[in-house]
Order: sequence, then structure tokens, then C-alpha cells
Amino acid sequence: MIAYLGRIVHDNDAESKLDDDVSSISKSLDLQGSIENGDVSSLASKDFGGLYSVKPLFLIKPSGAEDISRVVKLASRTSNLTVAARGNGHSINGQAMAEGGLVIDMCSTEKNHFEFLPINGSHYIDVSGGALWEDVLTRCVSRYGYAPRSWTDYLSLTVGGTLSNAGVSGQAFRYGPQTSNVTELEVVTGKGEITVCSETLNSELFFGVLGGLGQFGIITRARIKLQQAPDMVRWIRVVYSEFEEFTRDAEFLVTQKEGESFDYVEGFVFCNNDDPFNGWPSVPLDPGHEFNPTHIPQTAGSVLYCLEVAFHYRNSDNPTVDTAVNGLLGRLRFVEGLKSQVDVSYTKFLLRVNRAEEQVKANGTWDGPHPWLNLFVSKSDVVNFDRTVFKTMLKDGVGGPMLIYPLLRSKWDDRTSVVLPEGEIFYIVALLRFVPNGPSVEKSVAQNREIVNWCIKVGLDFKLYLPHYQSKEDWERHFGNRWSRFEERKASFDPMAILAPGQNIFRRDP
Ligand code: FAD
Repeated sequence: MIAYLGRIVHDNDAESKLDDDVSSISKSLDLQGSIENGDVSSLASKDFGGLYSVKPLFLIKPSGAEDISRVVKLASRTSNLTVAARGNGHSINGQAMAEGGLVIDMCSTEKNHFEFLPINGSHYIDVSGGALWEDVLTRCVSRYGYAPRSWTDYLSLTVGGTLSNAGVSGQAFRYGPQTSNVTELEVVTGKGEITVCSETLNSELFFGVLGGLGQFGIITRARIKLQQAPDMVRWIRVVYSEFEEFTRDAEFLVTQKEGESFDYVEGFVFCNNDDPFNGWPSVPLDPGHEFNPTHIPQTAGSVLYCLEVAFHYRNSDNPTVDTAVNGLLGRLRFVEGLKSQVDVSYTKFLLRVNRAEEQVKANGTWDGPHPWLNLFVSKSDVVNFDRTVFKTMLKDGVGGPMLIYPLLRSKWDDRTSVVLPEGEIFYIVALLRFVPNGPSVEKSVAQNREIVNWCIKVGLDFKLYLPHYQSKEDWERHFGNRWSRFEERKASFDPMAILAPGQNIFRRDP
């Protein structure tokens, strides 16, 4: 078997035999799941970014951790095969791909675990690493009335895929990223060992895997903290013309005590014009309510800022909601007249981007390229960032949302593999570009590079989120004084550099 795999990796003529050989490999591996010939048109060679495409050798649909362990062990007995777990392939830069390697489709394990666990007065759910967050939400709420506390904006992402990065949204200021909301993981390491880990058990693996970009193990089960799900959400957007007032209010809200602020705080930059995607029409929440530009102050510049907040409530709380929400809004300095709000169910709120997906799919841009750029920028540099990047480089928009909102470093666990800027408050900046195929893709990639190069040149305190680099030196700079810990974790848990080759951090030597 090993000799055979070695041969087909080096021998292109053997491709025509692959279909026959797929079944013999599957048998000899004793897989409960299935295995398919890697094909350029298969899902394993694509991702949401649409910028890269590489051909894997095989796509494996495992039935669970045992199958995954067998595949990793098989790879370790060859001289050069790599293994990529593929969540839902919503990376941008080929991170879930493995050129000539084995891609594991984690979605085939999505139904493996679903256990509600009340432990010492708290509540948890055990789910598969391949579970989609949208399913975790709907199943948890409908069956138990509970839900995870920390989310991403869009939920057709897998649990393992977001935990490998961090997983952030407007709840992270209070509960931290998703990586701060798991208490136990089951992981298949790069040695093929199935290991349960937590803060107290195999803790180096546990913290390594969280935010570990898939480098140390494949998450096959995660235990996630839950909270009681509210019935409803009041979802509000208010507009600012001045960046300093926007950040002052956003920072005020994220630093209030629990129970004395909104439950969700985000924000975005939009163009001060009537462009349907980048301008005023991108603000109203209620289709019956139009943005009225006559309220915009004369002093406003090329871009405006929208603070987006949400307040959770139960149906029985109805009369007190207005008092609480109006009390909070009364402390903010947004432009009078530029406020939009709706009341929606909790699940409808969390599935808001999934609904937008349906609309964008209808106009064809969802499936096009997405040269996105995500960064964490320190509070100390965010005014400079706004002046140069938003007000100047991106004053005409990016053909999609330009998110910016504050997060608190103290809600992130330093022991995970995620790296952050210095200081307690930092901002996530997400340039979510939707561009047509053609020259605008290269232009967008070049503009992203220009932004990152400018950040480096002026010495901004920033980190890439969902990082993508080509060279080892860039990765070392990214991790800074955490690089040696990252390397040591790799040496302990995936010493042959088998896992997640698409991240381009370590290379398996032939
Ligand atoms: P994939 O893209 O399939 O994999 C990502 C990486 O994780 C790969 O290296 C892969 O090998 C590894 N991996 C996958 N599964 C596992 C596993 N089980 N164990 C170990 N490693 C694994 N992120 C946010 O934080 N907040 C947001 O609000 C947000 N919104 C998004 C909206 C959209 C429309 C899109 C496309 C992305 C968004 N993201 C957001 C980014 C998203 O969290 C990451 O791209 C994430 O990695 C995607 O999950 P996935 O399941 O598709 O993973």
C-alpha cells in the first residue's frame, strides 16, 4: 500500500488506474467511510476565496475519528503525503487544500456527536468538529432552549474550521472568541493519535489546537459552553460622520458590565453616496425605511460609520426592552435621524448573513472570487488606519462590507495559538470584497498587499486574522515572540508536518 501510494504520487501515468485503486485503498485502510479520486473539479480543490485551486490525490469522507486516524497514520508511512481537514471550505487562500495530498471532508462527520450536558449548573453541547454552526444553533435552540454564546457573523462554517482560527462576531467583546468558549476537544494529532484534551488534560495540545490553523491536530469533537437562548433580538444601526465619535461609543459599549450594555456590538464603514452596495442603501435594516441623506452633517467626509448593536430579550420582557434600549442609545452620539431598527427572533438574527447569502447568490456574485483581507489593529493605531486606509485608499468601497469593531484582549486566552496586537482594546477590520472574475481580482489582491505593506512600513501594531503568508520569515514575524512556542507545538504534535499544508507554514520534506 505504502509503496503504491509512493508510486502514484510520483507517477502521473498511474492516474487512469486511480478509480480501481480507490476501492483497494479503502479496503486495506479498513475505512468505515468512503474515498474518492481527487479531481480538479471536486470540492476539495476549491474554496470560497476562488483564488487558488490545487488537485488533491484523494478526497476522503470519514465516518469518524478512527477513519481520520487511519488516514493520518497512512500518510505518515509515506515519504511525502500530506493531509488537510476540509471544514466547509470557506477559507480564502487555499488553507484547506492539499496539493497531491489527502483531503478529509469533515462535513461527512457532522452528525457524529450531539450531546447536551448540564454540568454543575452550567450547560454544554458536545458536537462534531465537522458540524456546521447553523445546525448547532437550530438544534440547540429547538431542542433545549440553549445556544452557544459566541458566534461568527455567518454560520455555514464548521466548528473545527472556526476554532482553528478564533471565531469572532459581535458577542466576542463579552464572551471572547469561540476559542474562549470550548472546554474540551477530541483531536487526531499529526501522529494519528486520538486524544481528548482540555485546560487540565493534555493542555498543550488543547491550547495549541485552538487558533492553531490546523497545524497540530484535526478536531473531531468540541464541547461548547451554552447560555439560555433569548426569544427575540432588537437589532439597531446608527450612523456617525466622525470616526472618533464612532470609536468612542463602540468602546464605551464594549467596556460596560454585563447587563449594562448591548449583547452584540459591531460596526462598518460605508461610502457617503448612494451606491447600492457600498453606500447609504447598505444601512437600513427595515426595507420599508429609507436612509435619509439630508441628516448627514456638512462636515462629513468620503466615508461614514455605522454602529450595529443588538439587545436580547424574552417575549415576557417586552415593556422593559424600550426603557433599557433607549437608555443605552441616549448615551450615544450618533447623527440624529440616522437610526434604523427591527425586532427579529434570535435565530433569525444569527442567521442574518445566511439570508443575505441567498440574495447575493441570486445576483451571481456569491460564487465569484473573494480576495478578502482581515486584520486586528490596535486601538492606538486605529485612527491612523482609518485616515489612510478607509478615508483614502478605500474611499470608493470594496464591493462588499468593510467591518470594523472593537474587541477586548482580556477575553482571549493567551495560551491558545492566536496572536493579537498589544493593548486591551483592538479592532477587527474585515474587507469583505465581492468582485467579478477578471482584472479586478488582481487589483484587489494588490490593494490588500498595499494595505499590509503600509501597516508594516509605518510600524502599525497589527496582526492578520485568517493569516496568509508565502514565506517562513513572514510567519515568524506574524507570530513574533510566540513563534518558538508554535514551532515546539508542531514538533510535538505533527513532527512530520503532515497536517494543513495549505496554510504554507511548514513543509513536509520529501
Ligand atoms: P475550512 O476553510 O474548510 O478550513 C480552514 C482551516 O482550518 C484549514 O486550514 C483546515 O485544514 C482547518 N480545519 C478545518 N476543519 C478542521 C478541523 N476539524 N480540525 C482542525 N483543523 C480544521 N470568521 C470569523 O471569525 N468571524 C466571522 O464573522 C466570519 N464570517 C465569515 C463569513 C463568510 C461568508 C466566510 C466565507 C468566512 C467567514 N469567516 C468568519 C471566516 C471563517 O471563520 C474561516 O474561513 C473558517 O476557517 C471557515 O471555516 P470552514 O469550516 O469553512 O473551514
